[in-house]
Formats: sequence, structure tokens, C-alpha cells
Amino acid sequence: MVEKIPKKDRMKVPRQVMPEQKPEDRRKNFQEVPYGLTEEQALIEASRCLECKNIPCVAGCPVEVDIPGFIDLILHRDYAAAARKIKETNSLPAVCGRVCPQEEQCEVVCVLAKKHQPVAIGYLERFVADYEREHKLTRLPEIAPPTGRRVAVVGSGPAGLTVAGDLIKLGHEVTVFEALHKPGGVLVYGIPEFRLPKKIVQAECDFLAEMGVKFKNSTVIGKMDTVDELFEQGYDAIFIGTGAGLPNFMGIPGENLIGIYSANEYLTRSNLMRAFDPDDYDTPIIHGRNVAVLGGGNTAMDSVRTALRLGAENAYIVYRRSEKEMPARIEEIHHAQQEGVQFHMLTAPIKFNGDDQGRVVSMECIKMELGEPDASGRRRPVPIEGSNYTMVVDLVVVAIGNSSNPLVQKTTPGLETNRWGNIVADPETMQTSRKGVYAGGDIVTGGATVILAAGAGKKAARAMHKFLMEEVKK
Ligand SMILES: Cc1cc2nc3c(=O)[nH]c(=O)nc-3n(C[C@H](O)[C@H](O)[C@H](O)COP(=O)(O)OP(=O)(O)OC[C@H]3O[C@@H](n4cnc5c(N)ncnc54)[C@H](O)[C@@H]3O)c2cc1C
Ligand code: SF4
Repeated sequence: MVEKIPKKDRMKVPRQVMPEQKPEDRRKNFQEVPYGLTEEQALIEASRCLECKNIPCVAGCPVEVDIPGFIDLILHRDYAAAARKIKETNSLPAVCGRVCPQEEQCEVVCVLAKKHQPVAIGYLERFVADYEREHKLTRLPEIAPPTGRRVAVVGSGPAGLTVAGDLIKLGHEVTVFEALHKPGGVLVYGIPEFRLPKKIVQAECDFLAEMGVKFKNSTVIGKMDTVDELFEQGYDAIFIGTGAGLPNFMGIPGENLIGIYSANEYLTRSNLMRAFDPDDYDTPIIHGRNVAVLGGGNTAMDSVRTALRLGAENAYIVYRRSEKEMPARIEEIHHAQQEGVQFHMLTAPIKFNGDDQGRVVSMECIKMELGEPDASGRRRPVPIEGSNYTMVVDLVVVAIGNSSNPLVQKTTPGLETNRWGNIVADPETMQTSRKGVYAGGDIVTGGATVILAAGAGKKAARAMHKFLMEEVKK
């Protein structure tokens, strides 16, 4: 055990800086940007925690990870036990340690944040999860004796994977149906390699398969089998975690020109279909020289940084509000700026222009100013008359949000949806209007976060277990 320093001295220890690739190098490659803390750094960072009695950080975490508990295990140098402690409530620490917005959750309320910098909780989470995986310390959990109950999980994003992991441990037979040819949801098709290496998501899926979860990839529920047909095939309960993968568009003239992608298509081609790896794959993707990405969220940052790495000379973010309102994680905005992405704030495209081949060649934009707050609480952007100008572009990526995937809702009679087409589910049990059918993640909330999807999966698994054991007679 590392000797603890007196509490008053802990505040003097500076927050550890995560080593990372230099911007001038990384803007040309797809390798992960931050390298992770060294063991020495992790021990120093863990020693900063004040072990607060009222644990505000735990309350700030959407799944209430025992943060001081796992940090204390780091100080005991028992990193595998620290990873297991996190996994009591969060099954995906290696993923969440990389992509969770800790700066808005556990770290923003850390007591140290008031006068100093908060404990780097996310860095520590990533450290223990990586240590456990790289040192092959992951142990298969005890699996309860078979219950004879069968569960179908539709969609293999963080929500579906969490349900699968929790229910297999309880002795149920679990099959995951995934429309794409690889499981992982947005974690594999959306978030790029330089932020979340695919081998990490694959390791999570392999671990579930080792526990006994069956994966049926390239299987679109609602087209090949419906929810009712799954019940007819003998599944006793069904979880729907189909996410929000339906891209929204601007609805402005010229949007159908060649060279205008949805972020979904652009990132899927680059990540899942591996256009980023041209030595081994010949996936077609348009390589723009002047690339404009429309939007200000994580998807926009991922797209613009991908465009740079695919060879863009100029990569622009075009966003209609100001940087303060951008929904992307601060770290992603910062990384994009360091890499040379050019930010055109308070700007909205109003029209795309094409050449005689139907390819986009420029975009007409208008400058905006911020008016009164709208329903989202953010100040509404208002166009400034006469401020139009033209941007030369040969590739545009539209990253202005996604709607729910509609197929399962359309093919499942009696499944209640709201006005955005999301499935309505009880917030505590995730039960839908159909008996035995549960739903969670983005398909219920609309586009949200990995940890909220995983948290919904935990709740659903608890309720599904109760249902399977109490209401399904075998
Ligand atoms: C580019 C991008 C970057 C992001 N970055 C972050 C980030 O940094 N931090 C963060 O916390 N969140 C981030 N998010 C949001 C986060 O990834 C999502 O909130 C989360 O993945 C939702 O999980 P889910 O399990 O609900 O669905 P998804 O991850 O969307 O998974 C749903 C799965 O269901 C499958 N599916 C859909 N329909 C069917 C069907 N009919 N039959 C079978 N399978 C089906 C889909 O193919 C998909 O694999 C990002 C999102 C995007 C798009
Ligand atoms: S609030 Fe910060 S200092 Fe206090 S227990 Fe949590 S991580 Fe440690």
C-alpha cells in the first residue's frame, strides 16, 4: 500500500497530465491520441483524493460508481480489484474512462474542483481497466445455474451489451441480435479509433461471448424476424437497444449533391468499414481537400478530426451558435483545435452549390447572432441579414444529430412511442407498453451518452430478471 499523505498536503499535489501524441503527428494518423497514465502517475493521482464523507463525486456519476472505493484500491496497488469495484455498477470502464464527459459528471462536483483541479477520475478509471485487460487479470464471473429462460437483446451498443452481461451471469440464455456485421453499436461504427481503439470494444464482446452470450450479427430485427416472431421462437423476454442511428439533415437546397455525407455514413465508412486503413481495405470514401463539418457535438468533432486524418488540407467546423454552447466534450474541442481544425462559429449554411457533374463545390453561409434562450435553454441563433458569404468546399459532413431507429417500433404492434418516435419505457424498470419487452439507451432517450445507455441496461436487466423468475413459468 502506498503511504497516504496528510489531507492538507494532498491539495498541493498537482493533477497529473495524461501523456499524448503531439498534434502535428497525430493529425496524420489514426492511433489513439492519449497514451494513458503511467503506474507512477496513477498512484500520485490517486493520492490526491480526499476520501470525502459525503462523496459528491459518486452522486455526480450517473451509475454511482464507488469512486473513493476504487481509488483506495489503486493506492493498495490492487488494480484488478479496483477494476472489479467499478464493474459493480459500470460494465464498460475501459470505454467510459475514455469517452465519458467526466468534466460534467463526477469531476465537476469533486471537492478539489472548488479551489484546485479535480481528481482525474476518468484517467484513473481508464488506467485500472487497461491494466486489468493488458495483464490478463480479467476473471470470468460466477455464472448462476441455468434458469431455462431465454432472452433476446436487439442491438449491441452499450445498453444491449450491459443487459447481456448482467443477465448471462444470472443464468439466463442470452442472444444478441445486431444489424451490423460487428457488435458494439456507436462504439465501433461511430467513435473513431483515435479516441476508442476497436480492440477494446472487441475485448468486451469477446468477454461476453466467453461467458456464454451468443451474438447473431448481420441480423436486422423488424426485417428478418419481428419481436413477435422472437417470442414465437421461444424467447421469454426481449430488450430493445437499437439506438438513435437515423441521421437528421439540414433540409436546405443542394443537400443531395455528391460529396455531402451524413456523419453516420462518413464515420461508418471510416471506422466500421475501415476506410482509415487503406493498406488492408479498399472501402470507398470521398477524400475532400476542403471539408466542412456541420454541427458542434462529439459526432461533429469525430468527423472533422477524421477528415484531417484522411488528408483534408482545410477542415472546418461550421456551427450556428458560439463555442460556449457546443455540446461536444471540452477535451474533444481542445484536441480538434490543437490539430488545426478551423472553427467557423455563429455560421449556418443555407445552400449547397454543385458543378455540372452534381458534385458539391461550395456552400453559401450566413452569419448568426445569439438572441433569447430557446426551449433547450441555449440562446437562439438569429441570422444577420446581408451577412451571406460563400465557402469553397468539396466535402460536407452533416453532423446535426440523429433520430431513433424506427424499424422495431413500426413492426411491433402495441409498442408505445413518443412524438419523436422514441420507445416509451418506465424510467425505473425500462419496461415498455408490451409485456416482456424492455427498452433502454438512445432508443428511449434520444441521442445521449454511453454511460446513460449502460445505466439503463443495468436497470432493465434487474427488472427483466425479476420478470423472468416471477412471471415466466418453466
Ligand atoms: C460519433 C459519435 C460520438 C459519440 N461520442 C460520445 C462520447 O464521447 N461520449 C459519450 O458518452 N457518448 C458519445 N456518443 C453517444 C453514445 O455513443 C450513445 O449515446 C450510445 O452509444 C447509445 O448506446 P445504445 O446502446 O443506446 O445504442 P447504439 O450504440 O446506437 O447501438 C445500437 C445498436 O443497435 C443496432 N440496431 C439498430 N436497429 C437494429 C435492428 N432493427 N436490429 C438489430 N440491431 C439493430 C445498431 O446497428 C447498433 O449497433 C457519441 C455518439 C456518436 C454517434
Ligand atoms: S469528491 Fe473528489 S476528493 Fe472527494 S472522494 Fe470524490 S474524487 Fe475524492
